[in-house]
Amino acid sequence: MAKKQTKKEGVVTWDYSPAPESTGHINLKKQYDHYIDGKWVKPSSGKYFDTINPANKEKLAEVAYGNDKDIDKAVKAARKAYKNVWSKMAPSERAKYIYRIARLMQERAREFAVIETLDAGKVIRESRDVDVPLACNHFFYYAGWADKLEYAFPNRKVESLGVAGQITPWNFPLLMAAWKIAPALATGNTVVLKPAETTPLTALKLAEVIHDAGLPPGVVNIVTGYGDTGAALVNHDDVDKIAFTGSTGVGKIIQKEIAGTNKKATLELGGKSANIILDDAPIDQAVEGIVNGIFFNQGHVCCAGSRLFIQESVAETVIEKLKHRLNSLIIGDPMDKNTDIGAINSKAQLATIDKYIKIGIDEGATMYQPDCKLPKGGYFCPPTLFMDVAQSSTLVQEEIFGPVLTIQTFRTVDEVIQKANNSPYGLAAGIWTDKGSRIFNLTTKLNAGVIWANTYNKFDPTSPFGGYKESGFGREGGLHGLSAYVKLK
Ligand code: NAP
Ligand code: MG
Repeated sequence: MAKKQTKKEGVVTWDYSPAPESTGHINLKKQYDHYIDGKWVKPSSGKYFDTINPANKEKLAEVAYGNDKDIDKAVKAARKAYKNVWSKMAPSERAKYIYRIARLMQERAREFAVIETLDAGKVIRESRDVDVPLACNHFFYYAGWADKLEYAFPNRKVESLGVAGQITPWNFPLLMAAWKIAPALATGNTVVLKPAETTPLTALKLAEVIHDAGLPPGVVNIVTGYGDTGAALVNHDDVDKIAFTGSTGVGKIIQKEIAGTNKKATLELGGKSANIILDDAPIDQAVEGIVNGIFFNQGHVCCAGSRLFIQESVAETVIEKLKHRLNSLIIGDPMDKNTDIGAINSKAQLATIDKYIKIGIDEGATMYQPDCKLPKGGYFCPPTLFMDVAQSSTLVQEEIFGPVLTIQTFRTVDEVIQKANNSPYGLAAGIWTDKGSRIFNLTTKLNAGVIWANTYNKFDPTSPFGGYKESGFGREGGLHGLSAYVKLK
């Protein structure tokens, strides 16, 4: 309920009474072990590390640190399950298990959403309405394919690969695990998953669901840890495929490490996506799309529309409306249902964002931040605009992975195509215009794996996702996502 009106920079906004989601219904253990061969297994090093809530720095649980011995155990369990059970099982039977995972996740959707928000700092509205439903839908979607692979790949003989090593980042912890596990299982592979160190809890909750779904032991194994745990998985001799989502830097290391081996790989890496506003765009919707494109999930989105290009004749209006909108965004407790912008995922990530903000100021760009009070006690960053940037500015070229938007203008469509494509990345793009012909012209010329028109950051399990250039290769989602886990003969 609205409490009182405040006026910020001429913008009248309402202060809302707090509406925090309850944590009463969630069940978190103090300590989590690895999930290997259908059992909870202590780490062979005996070491655990803390995972915290970045909104208040409180410890949520401690989690096992996995070394190469733990990875070896998990890969052996996955190999055994692959040979003896999962690759031999009738596809329609495999589908039943995957459906069961989807349904159990749906039943526990609130618990998953709350734990995701606590562990990652993302707002509850997003984990509740985006992350968890999409993760469930990925399991439903791929369960549907499990016994229809001959229709997915007509006239070809489809074989599974074997053991898939999967490594996920911290920005969509449950969703990335679903993107990886669901197609792997549907195509008859077994899995060892290494979640990110700052957000391991929903993957461990997923292990509980997988256990409750009665999956045969060893089909899915989850080993938590740091980067070296991921490296041990990449370098294990008996892994047939590496599916990695994370930074371009680590993606390059992985590609070098598996060069010369038989391992298949998909690498879903960073981005610096262009959001393009043409002069005939529906301005108010476009402003909402800009906000959604970069400030959604605190800008912790690989495909965030972090480079804004506005056609010169409407630039002033768009920037004015954007500033106005930023003043009405609510930054605060991610557990509060009114909050628009939650916490930055970790101290290290906040330091990276702050470093880039300083670089922007030092390089002479004009910064704008709304007049807002940041909550105390956690890691927060206000939504930030940078104007007067050049194509060569560090902020325009490098991925920041935070709520920082660069704004450039352009005169002609050809100019914006050149500017948008002048990036080492090619993950996504957005186009805002009234005309279908302009949309088709741009979509054929922009180097981006996903292009949204008059919307942004929309995902669906049936639609493939992935990048060009330094944004990686391979696709996840849709039919394309299946082909990453099969050999076709
Ligand atoms: P990251 O630092 O590359 O880490 C990703 C995962 O790899 C984590 O589990 C990490 O473990 C692990 N890792 C670190 N070093 C490793 C190594 N040498 N070998 C194997 N694994 C290693 O990325 P992040 O900071 O978590 O995530 C942000 C990045 O992910 C951004 O660049 C973003 O654009 C990208 N991303 C891309 C997509 C996409 O679909 N294209 C989607 C989401 C995110 P620790 O957590 O312990 O470091
Ligand atoms: Mg955490």
